[in-house]
Amino acid sequence: MEPKTKQFNQGAALAIRDEKAQKSLLGLYHGFHAARLRAADATPNWEELRDHARAIKAHTVEHLDYYLAQVEANVAKAGGKVFFAADAAEANKYVVDLAKARGVKVVIKSKSMVSEEMGLNHQFEAAGIEPVETDLGEYVIQLAEETPYHIVAPAIHKSRQDVSELFHRKLGSAPTDKITDLGREARRQLRQKFIQADMGITGANFVVAETGTVVIVTNEGNGRMCTSMPRIHVAITGMEKLVPSMKDLGTFLRLLIRSATGQRITSYVTAVTGPRRSNDEDGPEEFHLVIVDNGRSRLLANPELRESLYCIRCGACLNACPVYRKVGGHAYGWVYPGPIGAIVSPVLTGLGDAKDLPYASSLCGACREACPVRINIPRMLLVLRRELTEGTAYPGQRRVALAERMAMRGYRMAFQGRMFLGLATATGRVVQRPLVRKGRIRRMPPPLSGWTRYRTFPALPKHSFRSRWKRGL
Ligand code: SF4
Repeated sequence: MEPKTKQFNQGAALAIRDEKAQKSLLGLYHGFHAARLRAADATPNWEELRDHARAIKAHTVEHLDYYLAQVEANVAKAGGKVFFAADAAEANKYVVDLAKARGVKVVIKSKSMVSEEMGLNHQFEAAGIEPVETDLGEYVIQLAEETPYHIVAPAIHKSRQDVSELFHRKLGSAPTDKITDLGREARRQLRQKFIQADMGITGANFVVAETGTVVIVTNEGNGRMCTSMPRIHVAITGMEKLVPSMKDLGTFLRLLIRSATGQRITSYVTAVTGPRRSNDEDGPEEFHLVIVDNGRSRLLANPELRESLYCIRCGACLNACPVYRKVGGHAYGWVYPGPIGAIVSPVLTGLGDAKDLPYASSLCGACREACPVRINIPRMLLVLRRELTEGTAYPGQRRVALAERMAMRGYRMAFQGRMFLGLATATGRVVQRPLVRKGRIRRMPPPLSGWTRYRTFPALPKHSFRSRWKRGL
């Protein structure tokens, strides 16, 4: 997928004006976000669970070389094969070559963010192989030729009318406003593809190192069908998805599912270890695990950004973020939106092409509070901002305007001592006079006009609190 991270501001402005998108985004807070809070409240030792998960992730990421070797050995022991891909091109080549070599014509896919990151569907199409997304949201997105809007709910911005119109246009089905009819139509279409497909592609929510097991959580059962019906199963994952043991997996399943949807457990939790064995009733003849780097080593090598690899892609930070809830997923211009996307995307695609993303945050800390593994997202956003303004890797990418620098210097001086603060407020009271209407500053002159484009400011009062207190007012 070609990143459009440079166009964040245009994408955000479009989304803010899109009433339908705003309505869907509002639903995230009262839906997923509220459900997560209820689930956390109802889970004993929730905070200890978060601490424990963070410690496991920190340990795994620090010893990633050891656990990657362990996964490779255990997948091989179970009869599968691991391929380490340095970048998206290598991963695509491996998967497409494999499909071609095995004469595959149709590939069914369960939700995989990494395959989105690789642009795998386009590579299949170019090779004359039909890729079919089987997660309902991803299927809608594929038909609409769009990218996912949300990590967990890729088609959250589409209403039932949108989906009905899309199905009518692309599949020839009768228009309907019943969700059950739409689900039935998708199932009818997909059932044929499940039967035809020779290769199933899945992501991996977790990969357990001690057994070489790939774990997938879904609510639709499509992941289980993708791993058991076709004769070849290829799981594609980022190298950060490893957990050391089955015992650790229990901790992460509790956190992931509650944080993503507020459920205690999803309808399906599928664990796959290697291909079908001789006494298994079903399962693939071949199993391949593709572990993708694609820039993650850069995160690993940077101690200030490394903790972004702890992410379990639950989407809780998106639902909590006041910026994401206004600008939606497409504004971020790549696969990973929201607060964690504002860190991961610039590093994976190039900070110079994503210079607005680290600024797409009010630094309120809601993301950090929501994150089940306590990732300190605001701190890392500041690291990227510092890199853009003071670093040498992207010279001139983000120049702070002279007026803004002067204003910040003045602000710092004013707040360093009472005398300066008194002087500054006295000056402000005089300067603001021509701008004040009914106690508010409605429009500032350039270069500060941006501050009042969407809001007004309270004017400085005639008397300070201290002087009123002294006079007993
Ligand atoms: S950063 Fe935390 S809250 Fe956001 S998706 Fe990752 S694990 Fe979930």
